[in-house]
Amino acid sequence: MNVLVINCGSSSVKYQVLNPAEKAPLLRGKIERVGEEGRTHADAIAEVLAKAKGLSIDAVGHRVVHGGERFHDATRIDDVVYLAIQACVPLAPLHNPANLAGISAARDALPDVPHVAVFDTSFHARLPRRARTYAIDPDLAKEHGFRRFGFHGTSHAYVAGRAAEHLGRPLNQLRIVSCHLGSGASCAAVELGHSVETSMGMTPLEGLVMGTRSGDLDPGVVLALAKAEGVERADAILNRESGLAGMSGRGKDLRDIENAAAEGDDRARLAIAVFAHRVRKYIGAYAAAMGGVDAVIMTAGIGENSPSMRRRILQRFDFLGLVLDDDANQDAKVDADSPVSAIHADSSNVKVLVVATDEERMIARETVRIAGGRTEVKQPKPIPIAISGRHVHLDRATMDGLFGKGSELSVYKGISQPGQFASEQRVTLVGPRGEIERVRVLGPLRSKPQVEVSRTDEFKLGVDAPIRGSGQVEGSAPIRLVGPEGIVDLKEGLICAWRHVHMTPADAEAYGVEHGDEVEVAVTGGPRDLIFGDVLVRVKESYLLEMHIDTDEANAAELSRGASGALIDEPDTYVTPASGAQAQLRSRR
Ligand code: ADP
Repeated sequence: MNVLVINCGSSSVKYQVLNPAEKAPLLRGKIERVGEEGRTHADAIAEVLAKAKGLSIDAVGHRVVHGGERFHDATRIDDVVYLAIQACVPLAPLHNPANLAGISAARDALPDVPHVAVFDTSFHARLPRRARTYAIDPDLAKEHGFRRFGFHGTSHAYVAGRAAEHLGRPLNQLRIVSCHLGSGASCAAVELGHSVETSMGMTPLEGLVMGTRSGDLDPGVVLALAKAEGVERADAILNRESGLAGMSGRGKDLRDIENAAAEGDDRARLAIAVFAHRVRKYIGAYAAAMGGVDAVIMTAGIGENSPSMRRRILQRFDFLGLVLDDDANQDAKVDADSPVSAIHADSSNVKVLVVATDEERMIARETVRIAGGRTEVKQPKPIPIAISGRHVHLDRATMDGLFGKGSELSVYKGISQPGQFASEQRVTLVGPRGEIERVRVLGPLRSKPQVEVSRTDEFKLGVDAPIRGSGQVEGSAPIRLVGPEGIVDLKEGLICAWRHVHMTPADAEAYGVEHGDEVEVAVTGGPRDLIFGDVLVRVKESYLLEMHIDTDEANAAELSRGASGALIDEPDTYVTPASGAQAQLRSRR
C-alpha cells in the first residue's frame, strides 16, 4: 500500500510517498516558502501531486501536532474529525492551522482515498495522572485545559520499537528513556511500551533546551518577563529567541555552536553545557520514575549526529549501570540502511543506542493500520473473566522467613489456572500508611516473591506500585510482609497487575493474536458495560482461556457472576459475545 505522507509546517510542506513494507521511499522532498509570495498550502499540495504523478497513492497520512484530549490514536479523517482537529487549534496555534490547511487541500485533490491524521500527542495520551497533572487547582486546570500532553510521540514510539527489535526483546518488557534531540527536543520514559512521562508539556515549550525554546524555567521568570515586556514579547522571547540560539548568540544550529565553542567562545560553551546538563537530569529522573532503565536512545539531528554532545550527556552514569564505549560513540553512524548503532561498553547493563528516527515511516505505518481496513478479530468464543483479589506469591526464602524454615503451603482450593492453588496461608501487608491483613498466598512457590494489589489497596498501604505483568518484578516497589513466624522486607515485588488474558496457542490462533499483543476486551452483560484497553495476551499450552482483572477493575464494570468479555482490536469495534454462552466468574480470594 503506497502512502503519501504530508507534514505541513507554517512555512514548508515536507512530503514522502512510501510503502512502509519496503525500505526506500518512492519520493521525498520539501517545498519551502509556503505562505509567502501568494503561494498557499493548496498550491504546495498541487506541486507535490505533480511530482508524484505516475505513482499510485492508496492513502494519505497527515502529521497533526495536537490531538488534545480527543484523539488517543491515529484517526481516519472525515468532516467531524476535521472539525475536532480544528477545535484543538487553541492548543497549538502555530501548528494545527498549517496541518489543517494541508488536510483540506489534500482531501480536495485526492477525494477518493482515505486520509488519516497521525498525532504527535497520541503516544502520550495515556500518561499516568501523576505525570500529566500540574500541581494547581483541578477546577482551574479543567477550565483552561492545563495538563501535560507531550509531543514527538511518533518519533518516540518509532525509535523505541526499533530499539526493541535491535535488542531482540519485546518492547513490553523494556524500560526505555528516549531522547529526541533535534531543533525541538524532548525525552520520554517508555515503560513496557507505554509513555509514562515526557518532558514537553501542555505546549512544546516545557522540558529540554531546544534550538530556540528555553524549555524548563521558573514560572516566576515567565511572569516577570510578561510584566516587563508584555505577553506577546515574552512568548516570542521564550519560543523563538531562547534555547541554544538565545544562549549562544550563534543561531540555533548546534554545529555552528560547537565550532564557536572550539574556538573559545564562552557563550557557546555555556549553551552546550546547559543543554547537556538538562538532558542528563531528565535521564536520571526518568530512570527513577520507572524504577530502573534498560536502554537509553539518542535520536534526531543532535542525538544522531553529535558524538560530543552524546558524550557530555552520557558520561558518569556508571552508578546507573550505564557505561559508554567512547570509540563506538565517536564512530556511530546511522541512516535509513543501518538505523541503529549501539554505543555502550560490553560491561554496561543499560544499553545505549543511537537510532535514526523516521517519523514519515511511522506515519505511513499508522496510516496503513487505520486505512488498510480494520482486521476484525475472529470471535470463536467469549472469554471468561476471573477477578483476582490481592494476593501474594512466595519464593522459598520468603516462605521460610514468614512461616518457618522448611514450611510448606497447604492447599485451600484449586484456582482456575492448572497447577495453581490458593493456600491456607495468609500474610499481612504493611505499608507506610496502613496494613492489610489476611492476604492469601497462592501456590506453588516461585523463584521470586510477588505481591499483587489494586490501586485502592495502594492508597490504604500508602505505596506506589508500578503496573507490571506477572514475573516482571525488577525495579518494582518494596513492601513489608508479616507472617506467623517472622517479618520479611521485600526490596521489590509489589505490583499492580497488568490486566491480561491467558490462552492456549490454539485459542490465540483462533482469535488472531499472539503472545505479548495488547488487545481490548469488551465486557458486556452487566449494568455498566466497559471496554478494557491495554489487555496483555499471554499464550501458553497449559493455560486456560481466561481474562484476569483486579477488584477495582471488576467494580468499575460492576461485574457479577456470568459476565464475559469479547476480544476486539479497536475501541469502536465492539463485539458482543455469542449469545447463550455461559461465562464463568470466580474470585481467587
Ligand atoms: P527538526 O526536524 O526538529 O528540525 P532535526 O532532527 O533535523 O530537527 O535536527 C536539527 C538539528 O540537529 C540542527 O539544528 C543541528 O543543531 C543538529 N545537527 C544536525 N547534524 C549535526 C551534527 N553533525 N553535529 C551537531 N549537530 C547536528
